[in-house]
Amino acid sequence: MRSFVHARVCGVPLWGWLAAAVLYAGLATVAMEFAWQRSVSAIAAVGGYRLDLYAASLKSELGRYEMVPSIVVRQDSVHALLRERTGAQPTLLHAVDTYLAAVNREAGSVAVYLIEPDGTVIAASNWDQTLSFVGTNVSYRPYFKDALANGSGRFFGIGTNTGEPGLYYASAVREPNGAIGAAAVKISVDALESAWRVPAEAAMVVDANGVVVISTVPAWKFMAVRPITPDRQTQIQASRQYAGRAVEPLPYQRLGDWDTTGWFAQFPDWTHPGRYKRFLALSKPAPQAGDSIVVLLDVAPARHQQYLALAFVTGLFLIAGLYGLYAIQHRRAIAEKLKAQDALRGANERLEVTVRQRTAELTSANARMSQEIAERIRAEQSLRDSQQELVHAGKLAVLGQMAAGLTHELNQPLVAIRTLSDNARTFFERNQPAPAIANLERISRLVDGMALLTGELKTFARRPGVERVPVSLNEAVNHAVLLVESRIRDERVRLDLHVAAGTTVYAEPSQLQQVIVNLLGNALDAVAPEAQRTIAIDAHEPDEHGRVLFTVTDSGAGIAPEVLAHLFEPFVTTKPRGRGLGLGLAITSRLVEGFGARISAANLPEGGAQFRIDFVAATVQGTANG
Ligand code: ADP
Repeated sequence: MRSFVHARVCGVPLWGWLAAAVLYAGLATVAMEFAWQRSVSAIAAVGGYRLDLYAASLKSELGRYEMVPSIVVRQDSVHALLRERTGAQPTLLHAVDTYLAAVNREAGSVAVYLIEPDGTVIAASNWDQTLSFVGTNVSYRPYFKDALANGSGRFFGIGTNTGEPGLYYASAVREPNGAIGAAAVKISVDALESAWRVPAEAAMVVDANGVVVISTVPAWKFMAVRPITPDRQTQIQASRQYAGRAVEPLPYQRLGDWDTTGWFAQFPDWTHPGRYKRFLALSKPAPQAGDSIVVLLDVAPARHQQYLALAFVTGLFLIAGLYGLYAIQHRRAIAEKLKAQDALRGANERLEVTVRQRTAELTSANARMSQEIAERIRAEQSLRDSQQELVHAGKLAVLGQMAAGLTHELNQPLVAIRTLSDNARTFFERNQPAPAIANLERISRLVDGMALLTGELKTFARRPGVERVPVSLNEAVNHAVLLVESRIRDERVRLDLHVAAGTTVYAEPSQLQQVIVNLLGNALDAVAPEAQRTIAIDAHEPDEHGRVLFTVTDSGAGIAPEVLAHLFEPFVTTKPRGRGLGLGLAITSRLVEGFGARISAANLPEGGAQFRIDFVAATVQGTANG
């Protein structure tokens, strides 16, 4: 139950909606009632005014005809005619007829006529017309009876001759010894009815019987608004007041009173046959005794006023409700905004704390990183140190290898020198100088060989020159060829040179010459056993990377497979003792590296070996600087 009461719709609790609904219903009811009362009052006021108007017009319109019979009965010829009756002169009858016709014309009535005491009409304004009243008997008509009995009579009825409804007035023609007849006038109420006809309104005159005698709605004429007793019904039939027909009740339903003179009722809607409509009926006694005037006023405008009031209250309520909802939403939005601002502030503070924390972490991480960098630098330094140590160790290993090689290379001549010198001494002791001298010469040659070896060692040990300059490859090749020219010639080797004159590379001139001599020497050794001896030296044009490819190709047997992998290592040789030390290519590769160039070797598919050096071209500088 609590949750039901506290449930909210659009931010408004349920009890609020209920209260609003009750308030709305109350206000709507009051407003509608107020509108109803006001507009029905206005309609009733209009109705009252109409009643007065109709009463006045009845009095003036009908009143003036009331005088017509009383004027006619004063006429002497009328008296004479009634006195003489059927025995009267035709001239007298004609004179009366003419007089009545003149009166009728003057008054504007339907007919004026003279009645004998037995009810027979003896003279009439319409004596010369087909539907003449002359000769008809009206003894049964109350207006005639009343006139004879009381001096005058009045009557609403339907004409027995013409069948047209009308109002009849009659006055008695009196002589000192009594009434000798009556004069009557028939009036049409058509003009009155059409003058009263107002849209959405009906007006009628009800006679003392409760029968409608004048009506703006033709269908209602001669219908009863009140129940008629059987006795009265018989009397009506006898008087042939309504042309002998039975009086039907007007089909309407009384609903309720508005005030003393007004009441609501459902009447047939004459504009829409078959339908009923609600009217405010107002009535007032007519100027003629016993009659009453009734007006029916449409209350639809009052209904409209009610709807307007309802619409107004609804609109007002909607506006107020929308404004209220807006105010509530606005208040909620402000509250939420404040909450969001609070949350934002909180988040900001948290963010700042986090940023501070992160900054601190970053600072410490930075410090750690700097420390790590320092450690890395230290590690790198120690790595470099250990690398240098390794290089040093490598050098020591090479040195060991070399020492072993040297020991081997030097031991042989030393052993030979010892033997030769021992033998020389023995030859000298035996006084044989010739063989002793021969031995000494051999010792001298051995020492030369040893000197050559140590010389080569010196070249190997020397640090390659770092001074690189543009050198003409062509010139270097020519100088190298000159040095081995005798061997080329003696061993009948064909040498093909394809080195363009302007080819310039970065190198050290004497070292470059030594490199070419070494390669040429090896090639000559390789082709020596062959029948066809060819050596080709080529230098290509510099490529797009600024490199010059230089090759020495021979027609020899190729590089021994076991040697190929260790070709540029020191003391690697396939040559017989005394012919090679295995230092040539080791020295060559060190020098080439010093030029910033690279050396490689391969056996060619068609046979023979090829050594390739990839030089740094110095074409531009070389040619530019000469
Ligand atoms: P050495 O000439 O003293 O032997 P090198 O270092 O110059 O020392 O050569 C090492 C070895 O490489 C040679 O003994 C030889 O077996 C091989 N070699 C070098 N050049 C050629 C070549 N043009 N053709 C075949 N083998 C070669």
